[in-house]
Amino acid sequence: MSKVISGGAASVSVPVLAPAARLGDRLEEVDTPSLILDLDAFEDNLRTMQVLTERHGVALRPHAKAHRCPDIALRQIALGAQGICCQKVSEAACFVAAGIRDIHISNEIVGASKLAMLAKLAKQAQLTVCVDNPRALEQLSKALVQEESTMGVLIELDVGQKRCGVQSPQEALELAQAILHTPNVRFEGVQAYNGGIQHKRSHDQRLGASQKTATRIRRYLKVLSDSGIECRVVTGGGTGTAMFDVATQVYTEVQPGSYAFMDDDYGQLDWGDALEFRHSLFLLGTIMSTPTPHRAIVDLGLKSTTAESGPPRLVDHAGVKCVSIHDEHTMLVAEGGERPALGSLVRLVPSHCDPTFNLHDTVVALRGNKVDAIWPISARGLSR
Ligand SMILES: *Cc1c(COP(=O)(O)O)cnc(C)c1O
Repeated sequence: MSKVISGGAASVSVPVLAPAARLGDRLEEVDTPSLILDLDAFEDNLRTMQVLTERHGVALRPHAKAHRCPDIALRQIALGAQGICCQKVSEAACFVAAGIRDIHISNEIVGASKLAMLAKLAKQAQLTVCVDNPRALEQLSKALVQEESTMGVLIELDVGQKRCGVQSPQEALELAQAILHTPNVRFEGVQAYNGGIQHKRSHDQRLGASQKTATRIRRYLKVLSDSGIECRVVTGGGTGTAMFDVATQVYTEVQPGSYAFMDDDYGQLDWGDALEFRHSLFLLGTIMSTPTPHRAIVDLGLKSTTAESGPPRLVDHAGVKCVSIHDEHTMLVAEGGERPALGSLVRLVPSHCDPTFNLHDTVVALRGNKVDAIWPISARGLSR
């Protein structure tokens, strides 16, 4: 195979690599670096969360920012998820294009061109979006009126994360009353997501933090209902607290995302014996160099995964640790075990799944040892 690549004045035909994976390939035939998904573990994770939410009568709306992959979202919905969450308007458009019709944008959208796009998109799917400011609400309404479309809005409450959201029940009440008097927007309820407590290591710390968050939400809901404003939707929760949030009876839906993959950071939480999630997402690499008896270098780095939650973790090789990660290299050191051999394939668990997906064009889905599907991560890079 060859391809003409234009480089200014000169155009030269150069060889191109075969695809990294083909349907039916065995794992050993997949080229590296690749992002791979163990379908059995992935589907078990989807079912575990679905069963948990159904048992408590709470809807599941998985956060698609975790994967940005329409094929994955469609499987979540096929198993019973209500719809999905997105964070960005361009990301949401990608999922609408793939046929998903119920999307909550769990974020504030500000700026004329984005609002114009959102207003158009609202004609093609059932969309909701967060607001936390009356001026932003006005801008959204203006865009919707211009486009002759309508959409549901949720007031975002800051319930402890100190990110976006109104700061008091009084502020929420004033904004809710404004929404009721603003054209082309429909008041749907509130979003109360507390991201900061999702990664607390201990089971009991997360339980306590989830209950404290629920108490704050109840205070907001009471002020609204005392003024005759009922919330059809109370949405929030993430992978770390969903198991506790569903039991509070405060939420109508939860929005975890990473549960489907269990990155290494979430894997280090104390889950008690309540929930069983497994790692389903891995980076596949090749040992490209073994310069000393104790050191081995993997052919992937920060272009394939991110390290804000630490380097990825090597599996299948006891006593060999991943010690650092660079642009195109990951360094392994054999501390007790045997170093993997030159040319061998290794699997690493990414430390943070969301930005890792965003670095790949496709995810290679494996059933056992066989490539069962290759899914495009269609919304990768769509950050506007
Ligand atoms: C990221 C995010 C989630 C999901 O978080 P996970 O930790 O991946 O479960 C849910 N809601 C909002 C608003 C988020 O930003």
